[in-house]
Amino acid sequence: MIRQFELVERVKAYDPSADEDALNRAYVFAMKVHGSQIRLSGDPYFSHPLEVAGILTEYKVDVASIITALLHDTIEDTETTLEDITRLFGKGVAQLVDGVTKLTRIEFQSDQAKQAENFRKFILAMSEDIRVLLVKLADRLHNMRTLHFIEKPEKRRRIAVETMDIYAPLAERIGMQGMKNELEDLAFGELNPDARKSILNRLDFLREKGGDLVPRIIAELEKTLSDNGIQASIRGREKTPFSVWEKMQEKDLGFEQLSDIMAFRVIVDSVEDCYRALGIAHGAYPVVPGRFKDYLSTPKPNGYQSLHTGVFGPERQRIELQIRTADMHDVAEHGVAAHWNYKQNGVSKTAPQYRWLRELLDILEHAEEPEEFLEHTKLEMFKDQVFCFTPRGDLINLPRGATPVDFAYAVHSEVGDRCVGAKINGRMMPLRSELRNGDQVEIITSKAQTPSPTWENFAVTGKARARVRRYVRLLERDEYTKLGRAILERAFQEEGHEYSDMALGDVLAVFHYQTAEDLCAEVGAGHHTGRDVVEAVYPGTRKRKKDSKVVALGKARTRLGKEQGSGSDQTGVSIKGLIPGMAMHFADCCHPLPGDRIVGIVTTGKGVTIHTIDCETLGEFVDASERWLDVSWNVGNEDNTAHVGRIHLTVLNVPGSLGDLSSVIANNEGNISNLKITNRSPQFFEMLIDIEVRDVKHLTGVMAALRADPAINSVERARG
Ligand code: MN
Repeated sequence: MIRQFELVERVKAYDPSADEDALNRAYVFAMKVHGSQIRLSGDPYFSHPLEVAGILTEYKVDVASIITALLHDTIEDTETTLEDITRLFGKGVAQLVDGVTKLTRIEFQSDQAKQAENFRKFILAMSEDIRVLLVKLADRLHNMRTLHFIEKPEKRRRIAVETMDIYAPLAERIGMQGMKNELEDLAFGELNPDARKSILNRLDFLREKGGDLVPRIIAELEKTLSDNGIQASIRGREKTPFSVWEKMQEKDLGFEQLSDIMAFRVIVDSVEDCYRALGIAHGAYPVVPGRFKDYLSTPKPNGYQSLHTGVFGPERQRIELQIRTADMHDVAEHGVAAHWNYKQNGVSKTAPQYRWLRELLDILEHAEEPEEFLEHTKLEMFKDQVFCFTPRGDLINLPRGATPVDFAYAVHSEVGDRCVGAKINGRMMPLRSELRNGDQVEIITSKAQTPSPTWENFAVTGKARARVRRYVRLLERDEYTKLGRAILERAFQEEGHEYSDMALGDVLAVFHYQTAEDLCAEVGAGHHTGRDVVEAVYPGTRKRKKDSKVVALGKARTRLGKEQGSGSDQTGVSIKGLIPGMAMHFADCCHPLPGDRIVGIVTTGKGVTIHTIDCETLGEFVDASERWLDVSWNVGNEDNTAHVGRIHLTVLNVPGSLGDLSSVIANNEGNISNLKITNRSPQFFEMLIDIEVRDVKHLTGVMAALRADPAINSVERARG
C-alpha cells in the first residue's frame, strides 16, 4: 500500500505548490471512514481509493483530483455525506466527488432501471469537469486490475463488457491511450482468455526468435538519424494482445501478416525534426506503400499528433514508425491530463481541443427537448443505439431500428409477451414503428395477449426475436400434438385398438422420435398419416385392409352381376347406372359422398371412377363424352359406414386455432383421417383435411360448424 508520505511526495514531484495539508487530511479521512471494510482481495478497502490516487499521480493530475480519488467511494460506501465533504474539503472537491459518485451509480449493462435523469447527469458530470471522468477511469482501471477476485463469472463478465464498451472508448476519446490499452487488454483477458493467451505465446515466440532484434533495429535507426543530424530517442513498442486481436479481426488477417507488431516510437525535439526524420527514414529504407499518415498537420479529434509510416527497415524487417515530439508523446500517452497548467495556478477544465465536450456543454445549456439533447449529445460510441424512456423515466437503450416490441422485451420478458400496443410520446402507434432517440414509450399490455408470429418480421433485438420464435414454436407444437393425438386415436379405433401414448413406445425408434409427443406432433403436422403409425404398431394392418378392399370389389362385382344397373362398394353403398361387372372407385380429387350429385368416368383397365358433378378434374374429359357414365346413389340404402370427404380450409394462425379445429370436427362426429398443410403465412394456415363422415349431409353439418368458429376463415369442399 502506498504510504501517506509517498503519495504526497509523488504529487509534490510534479506540482511543488500542491496543498500538502489537504492531501494528508484526505488520506487520513478516507482511511478512517472506510475503517475495517475489506476488499474481495482481502486487502483493507482503503487500499482501493489509494491505488486509484496512485494511478492518477502517473497522469500528473491536480491535487483536487487526487483528493477526489481518495474520497471517491466515501459517499457510496460509508456514512459520509456530501455536506461533510463540502465542510472538510471545500465545494470544488465536493462537486468532483459528487460527479464520480453519480457515474458510479450508472451501470450501463445492468438490467436494473436506468434513469433518464441519471444518464443526463452522467453526461453532465463528466462534461462539466473532465476530472470526474479521469477519476472514474482510474477507479475502473484499478477495479479491472483486481477483477479476478470477484467470484461470480457473470459479474466479472458484465464489468468487462462495460469496460470494453463504455470506459475504454471514453479513455480513447480523451486521448488517454495508455489507459485505454490497459482497460481493453484486461477486459479482453476476462472475455476471451484463450485468445489472449495464444497471442501472448505467439508474441513470446517471436521475441525469442528475434533475439536482440529490437535493440539492433533501434541502434541502427538511431545511427541512421544521427548521421543525418537528428537526435532521436527511439523506443520499441509492442502491441497489446488485444490490439493484435483487434487488427486480426478487423482486417481478417493471420498473425504473420500483421506488419506493425513491431512498431517504434521516434521522439525528436521539434516539429521540423519530425518531418526531417521522416524524410531520412524514407530515404534510407524502402517505404511500405499506404502506411503514411500525417496526424501532425491534422491531429486526431482527441488531440493525438504524430507522423506514421511503414518501412522495410534495418535487417529488412517490416516495421512501423511513429515520429513525434516529446510534448506530443505526452499528449498521446496522457491525453487530457497532459494539459493541466499548474504554473498558471488554475486548471483548464476542458482542454480546448476537445470540441466534442464543449459542444456537449453547449447543447446541455440550450436543449429543451430530451430528444434533441440525446440526438446531439450521443457520443460516437452510442451511434448505433437509441435511448428511449419508460413513462417512469427509466432509460432503455436499444439498437437502431428497434420497435416498441423490442422495447417491451427490454423492459421485461412478460411485458413483451403481453404487449398489445404502444404509445410513443403519448400517441398510439403501430408496434412496428421505429423508435427514435428520446422517445417516451408506454407499452399497453393485456393478460390475454401472447406473442404474435408477425413480430418476428420487425423486431430487431435478439431477445425479442428469440422469445417470439420460441413461443411460436412451442405453440405450434402444442397444437400439432393435440391434433396428431386426435388423428391417432381415431386411426387406432378404426382398427379395433385402444390408443394410448404408451402404445407408441416401441415404434418411436422406427420413426426416429424421442417421445410420443414428438410423434403426435409430426402426425398433426401431416408428416405421417395415422395409418402409417397404426401399421407400425400393428404390422399387417395395411395389408389386411388392402385384401379386404379386393374382396369387397369382388363382392361388388358379384352383386352388380345380379342386380343390373346398380353398383356398390364394400360398404354396401350402391350406385345406379353402372355396367355389370365393372370395377368402381371413388375419385381422390373430390371424394364424393352419398348425397352428392355424381358422374362416372370410364377409364380403360381401371373401371369407373366416381366424381362429384362439380369436380374440376372433369374438365379433362369434356371432349370424351363416350367415357361419361350417368350414375347416381341408390337412395334409401341405410348406410352408417364412413366415407371420406375432403375439405379445403383457411385457419387464422393464432394460438388455439388448430385445437379448435379438431374439437369442432370431433364434436360433430367427424374424424380427421388425414391433414395436409398446403400453405402457411404469419396470418393463416391453409390446409386440406380428409374427414370421415357418413354422407354429404354429415359433412355439410361439420362444415357449418367450422364456419361458425371465429378462428376459421373459410371452409369449402375440395374440388379436385
Ligand atoms: Mn471505486
